[in-house]
Amino acid sequence: MFVAAETFADGHVERARTCVFGSGPAGLTLAYTLAERGEDVLLVEAGGAEWEFESQELYQGRVEGDRYFLLEDCRLRVFGGTSGHWGGYCRPLDAHDLAGIPGHPGTRWPIGVEALQPYLAAAAEILEIPGEFPEREAGPDLVRTMYNYSPPVRFGDKYRDYCESSDRLRVCLNSALVGMEPDAGAGETRIRAAEIVTERGPGGAEGRVRWRVEAERFVVCLGGIENSRLLLWINEQNGRALLPDHDLIGRYWMEHPNDSVGETVLLADQAGLFVERPTHFTLSGSYQQDNALPNVVFEINEESYTKAKRLAADILCIAPPLGQRLLDGIDKKLVCAARVRCQWEQVPDPDNRVVLGDTPDRLGIPQVALHWRNNPSERRTIAASTLALARAFAEQDIGRVKPFDWIVDDSLPFPDDEVIASYHHMGGTRMSADPAAGVVDPDLKVHGVANLYVGGSSVFPSSGYANPTLTIVQLALRLADHLRPAA
Ligand SMILES: Cc1cc2nc3c(=O)[nH]c(=O)nc-3n(C[C@H](O)[C@H](O)[C@H](O)COP(=O)(O)OP(=O)(O)OC[C@H]3O[C@@H](n4cnc5c(N)ncnc54)[C@H](O)[C@@H]3O)c2cc1C
Repeated sequence: MFVAAETFADGHVERARTCVFGSGPAGLTLAYTLAERGEDVLLVEAGGAEWEFESQELYQGRVEGDRYFLLEDCRLRVFGGTSGHWGGYCRPLDAHDLAGIPGHPGTRWPIGVEALQPYLAAAAEILEIPGEFPEREAGPDLVRTMYNYSPPVRFGDKYRDYCESSDRLRVCLNSALVGMEPDAGAGETRIRAAEIVTERGPGGAEGRVRWRVEAERFVVCLGGIENSRLLLWINEQNGRALLPDHDLIGRYWMEHPNDSVGETVLLADQAGLFVERPTHFTLSGSYQQDNALPNVVFEINEESYTKAKRLAADILCIAPPLGQRLLDGIDKKLVCAARVRCQWEQVPDPDNRVVLGDTPDRLGIPQVALHWRNNPSERRTIAASTLALARAFAEQDIGRVKPFDWIVDDSLPFPDDEVIASYHHMGGTRMSADPAAGVVDPDLKVHGVANLYVGGSSVFPSSGYANPTLTIVQLALRLADHLRPAA
């Protein structure tokens, strides 16, 4: 049921066995699954039932480094979280993603693909996708890879009725986590209570209520930036004593940079292209391992007929027989021109990080400062992978790729006319079995704190190229099994 926290008196205490913060894909999947298993769950969501400017305003912050989106525009602070905006592209991580990026030991996940695989079918049901991702070898090093497309599921819409009718799941909207009270007993720290502020009216125009939640365990699912921000803030409030290695929180933050890397003419019949959606290729796991390359995906989007003619004419100048074959194919509609976009995995960098800025928001929490830039080593990933794609297309006679100048000439700058990122916020509270190397353990419990867990992509130690939400939902289902196994 929805509980009107606006009516609470200051100092009110709400009790639950499990308290989940945030109602995006991570938080709602977890809260719903636990409630369905008979757990008494309180879900505390900072946003309201609908989008509000005054709520989004609390997501403002500063970005230092490369050009990036406005932080209040690239995520949603509303019931259902950023699933209100997402595009629905779904793919699980590859097995070799969890093995880590070759040459970067810290990027190995402490769990293998066998820990996520059992949750694929249930996650697919939630996201309303088939959940099958057949791959096809398109050459020795080239793989035709597959996405599934969620309608896209808007979590707020999907679970609103359930939240209204359930008496095991209580939901408080307009209620932000702002602090935590640890128990200073012997042994591992425990969180005794969480501090919440509920705003009455837009932006608190009609006042604010400060109240507390007492629970046996707390799970923060605030999104890939706010998880770090709130943990940093809670640690600051507690004299940096709550979380043992506070310096790791916020570090190794990652995006999926994404840019056009070239153009191609394709023999569409051979490439098996363009049934409905763009077509995707990746390089084989063994090619990536052998060449110490992070993971990439190429998206091939069909372009106009005129462009196909122009590209075929260019090829005619340098390779007349092939150019003629392409021009003949154009007349029979066997050839198309396409733009090649690449989405690549960043090598996690400790200097890409979420930190607390100097300016407090209206609830008194420092706004976020996000330090993010593309590492120069990423030029090598993109160039080597694009050239491998071009080689494989030529060898298999799928088509020909013309990489852009900045791909082949690394003295040219990265194009900076647009943001080269994908709205995927990952890392910051990375998972590791070693408390010195990660913020959460393989069960997503914060190292050194007995009853505090983290849900969402902030726990990813590395990112592969796959869009993160399917993995977020798989991890939330796995966490539900840890907290309350199905009977
Ligand atoms: C334009 C766009 C397109 C995208 N397309 C795709 C795609 O195609 N495929 C894909 O996999 N991913 C995509 N994403 C990313 C996807 O939306 C996120 O991966 C996903 O929503 C993350 O889920 P989450 O639950 O971890 O965080 P969120 O969905 O961000 O939810 C976090 C929740 O926490 C709440 N919250 C924040 N602070 C507090 C607080 N202090 N107290 C209480 N609650 C709080 C927020 O209001 C929010 O409801 C896209 C994102 C955008 C913006």
